[in-house]
Amino acid sequence: MQILKSYVNGSWYEGQAEGNTLFNPSTGEALARCDSTGMDRAAALTHAREIGGPALRSLSFTERAARLKAISELFYGHREELIGLSMSNGGNTRGDAKFDIDGATGTLAAYAWLGKKLGERGFLTDGEGVQLGRTPRFWGEHVFTPRLGVALHINAFNFPAWGMGEKMACALLAGMPVMEKAGTPSALLAYRMGELLVESQILPEGAFSLLVGSVGDLLDHLGPQDCVAFTGSAATGRKIKAQDAFVHRNTRLNVEADSINSAILGPDVDDEDETWNEFLGNIVTDMTQKSGQKCTAVRRIFVPISQVDAVRAELVERLAAVKQGDVADASHRMGPLASEWQFQDVQAGIRELAETCEVACGGPDSVSEQGWFIAPTLLIASDPEIPLLHEKEVFGPVATILPYSGEAKEAIRLANKGGGCLVSSIYTNDRDFGREVVEGIAPWHGRVWVGSDKSSGQAMPPGAVLPFSVHGGPGRAGGGEELGGMRGLEFYMQRTALQGDRGFVGRQFGVPSGKE
Ligand code: NAP
Repeated sequence: MQILKSYVNGSWYEGQAEGNTLFNPSTGEALARCDSTGMDRAAALTHAREIGGPALRSLSFTERAARLKAISELFYGHREELIGLSMSNGGNTRGDAKFDIDGATGTLAAYAWLGKKLGERGFLTDGEGVQLGRTPRFWGEHVFTPRLGVALHINAFNFPAWGMGEKMACALLAGMPVMEKAGTPSALLAYRMGELLVESQILPEGAFSLLVGSVGDLLDHLGPQDCVAFTGSAATGRKIKAQDAFVHRNTRLNVEADSINSAILGPDVDDEDETWNEFLGNIVTDMTQKSGQKCTAVRRIFVPISQVDAVRAELVERLAAVKQGDVADASHRMGPLASEWQFQDVQAGIRELAETCEVACGGPDSVSEQGWFIAPTLLIASDPEIPLLHEKEVFGPVATILPYSGEAKEAIRLANKGGGCLVSSIYTNDRDFGREVVEGIAPWHGRVWVGSDKSSGQAMPPGAVLPFSVHGGPGRAGGGEELGGMRGLEFYMQRTALQGDRGFVGRQFGVPSGKE
């Protein structure tokens, strides 16, 4: 069986214990083992800080952008092999595997494109300068310089490629060495990507480390110049937030956690509208793509009471048409859940929701003799006020229809009961309804997506995270923010206010002429 190793301290490290077994979730076959017991994590961080950091910062933004482009091309060049690993160890259909891997290469390429324009200076100017004294002689600027520590990226199991690629793109371009901690159940893909990256020598030594297996005492060795970008469940996010590194040493932390995302069907939309079709299509995609294991997938579907029966009938029919099974068979459009733990957790979650909801299709039982398959499960809430519906993330092919009056105010109140979401979508051609709902839910959302006949057929679905829009959400969703074009670099840099004479501060550190 393959043994996965970590790349730290300039070499590959094999854990001293048995560790965890990685499986093919379609068949239950054991594929690999990974472990990190015995690793000197303090030394691994010091190596990244002292060898990787200076080497990376000696490169200009333009040079770092060129490395990102090379990394994107490297992964693209091995696309077929990576897709194969994502299918076997992640339980992804070919389409789902491409979604993850192309998301990684695309985001790396997008940041390479952005970085190319940032020039040769070692810092970035933040906005316009400002006169601070009685005359323009006393002047202020703000600059961003790279933080001098390590960017530790703790990734969830569901997007091993994209999760690593999007975080790495921002950190490396900003000038911070990265340590990527892969989610264990699907670590085979991240491991191979790490292996390719190390072999390629695209990055200077120490700029990239890979940790497979447990985080162990790593967080105890983090300091004020380090930062941690965590993606995973709200429960793990809470544990991490309570660590000394963040409470006492002010290590910077970004948390991307789970979210009970909504889709809101406007009262003006019916089956004559293109928006109706888009609404149904996007929900089926969210429930079946990656078997619903997407942090951005819709969990709560708000439907005006008069349309509930029609929406239910359409969704049940469309979900029944999705062929599910071993992803090695190309005719299957939906695979299994990624691990046995996920499978049991989703079963328990459906049972809990079903105590107060009617099961329109699917259910908690396995639909296959082998592997960890759950059918797409649509529930109908008897009462949209039931707290569990707004609190429980069932991380699988599961969503619930919640009937509402069709009034904007009610949609807003119910959607905001999620306590903070990554993304919610509104489907309407009524601009007044749309504006009221956008304004009402925006404070509780990192992203709001509006579907209408005007953008139908052109829009990326709400489940897709795009490099030039921010990703993250307030409250329960973790309170973090990633990506968003240049905004994504800020987490990895220190913003400093500069004050002094304009001839020095303005000329040396202001926006270079011609770039305003
Ligand atoms: P998880 O169990 O919270 O694990 C996430 C990561 O944290 C894994 O790498 C895990 O390592 C690590 N970890 C576990 N315990 C830790 C601890 N005490 N200290 C430090 N790290 C620790 O989540 P998951 O099951 O992998 O992912 C599913 C969840 O992630 C869902 O709730 C989903 O909504 C959320 N998610 C959010 C986003 C977003 O962008 N907001 C994106 C994807 C997924 P091991 O795997 O080795 O345990």
